[in-house]
Amino acid sequence: MHHRQDPLPPPAVNPLHRSRQQQVLVLGGGLMGLAVAHGLARHGWSVHLLRCVRREAAGFAAAGMLAPHAEGLGGPLLTLAQRSLRMIPAWVGAVEEDSGLPCGWLPCGTVAPFTSEAQRQAFPTAALGHPLDRAALETEAPGISPAFICGLLFPQDGQLDSRRRLMAALERACRRRGVYFEEGVVERLCWDEDGSGHRHLVGLALRTDDGARRQLPCGQAVLCCGAWSQQLLPQVPVTPVKGQMFSVQAPRQALRRVLFGPGTYLVPRQDGLVVVGATTEQVGFTPGLTPMGQSRLEQGLRQLLPAATRWPPMERWYGFRPCTGDQQPVLGPGPLAGLVMATGHHRNGVLLAAVTAELTRVVLEADPGGCHNTSWVAPFLHAFRWNRFSPAPAQASLRQA
Ligand SMILES: Cc1cc2nc3c(=O)[nH]c(=O)nc-3n(C[C@H](O)[C@H](O)[C@H](O)COP(=O)(O)OP(=O)(O)OC[C@H]3O[C@@H](n4cnc5c(N)ncnc54)[C@H](O)[C@@H]3O)c2cc1C
Repeated sequence: MHHRQDPLPPPAVNPLHRSRQQQVLVLGGGLMGLAVAHGLARHGWSVHLLRCVRREAAGFAAAGMLAPHAEGLGGPLLTLAQRSLRMIPAWVGAVEEDSGLPCGWLPCGTVAPFTSEAQRQAFPTAALGHPLDRAALETEAPGISPAFICGLLFPQDGQLDSRRRLMAALERACRRRGVYFEEGVVERLCWDEDGSGHRHLVGLALRTDDGARRQLPCGQAVLCCGAWSQQLLPQVPVTPVKGQMFSVQAPRQALRRVLFGPGTYLVPRQDGLVVVGATTEQVGFTPGLTPMGQSRLEQGLRQLLPAATRWPPMERWYGFRPCTGDQQPVLGPGPLAGLVMATGHHRNGVLLAAVTAELTRVVLEADPGGCHNTSWVAPFLHAFRWNRFSPAPAQASLRQA
């Protein structure tokens, strides 16, 4: 792959001090924040990105599977994910071109193994995969446990090395495109109300790294706070789902496909590192690894690919997935005019980053009236609207600064 080697341009100036360009604040600098900021900056927007605790982002924890079919997604989420999957080659190309860094994209396909033929037939996306008998399954996933008698191969699926490559590449691509980064916690959103009761964003309250507090005026912002989103918008039900992971070093090419077992998956990187994931824990923001979580993963590995238990362990980590009530993202116009939502991507944020960045830009660039009826985004804005969870008068619970 070709990567540009030219030196970094001089540091960006705060875009809010420039004039005439369209300006936007991106709240949160995890995977979505970086993807959205990069997409907007590439299209000439002046982007100011606010983030806190860089490494806590789930983007640094993700296995990076691009696996809508192996995940068995359905409905509008499958359509959105397939659209994102088709965008990945060009999107990765743009990030690599702007950053000069690789994203670790591998269109390696995914194998889902099953212990019975009935299970395979009942799998939601079975019609979109190639059936594998036991012999073909062994060819695609050498060493797979004899408990699995058949499988499905989804050659469309793939992976991005989110933890080691994509996040760094996106960050650098943003800087090179002039995105202005500021470290700090967004504590509150501020709005004005017009005579007809409509609220529109006018700014936010920020606590910077040195403890100073200040107000930042803004008319447009994108909320990308991941699992922490509800702290800013209590009426949008995004909660953390903790996932623990570990990695082992396999002999190179020991595994070429992502192996998506029931409860445990293996993601083989090109250099032989195999990521083993992941636990699903409803423990709020409780930090740290646990013996139970790690032994559950080790047991899952043994049941899926017994030989892999002899591969040396490398690293252990965890992160918090942003999960909504229906496990689907929240996208498009938010509860305040000028605020666009890009959160709640749960276990598919890497997969959905490309389409989220594009959809967010389309929404921001629409007429002030916000009419998207004829655009490709229309069905997604309806399916993933922020207020689909409850008919309650949502504005009532917004906290004013
Ligand atoms: C263990 C695990 C495995 C995963 N595997 C996959 C996978 O294989 N494939 C896939 O597609 N997805 C996967 N995901 C999901 C994916 O990582 C997430 O969906 C995605 O990272 C969400 O991106 P985000 O930007 O919304 O959140 P994050 O990446 O968590 O970023 C949110 C950022 O916002 C910042 N922030 C929060 N509140 C504030 C505030 N008030 N002010 C300033 N900054 C703030 C946080 O510090 C954080 O940096 C996995 C996730 C986990 C945890």
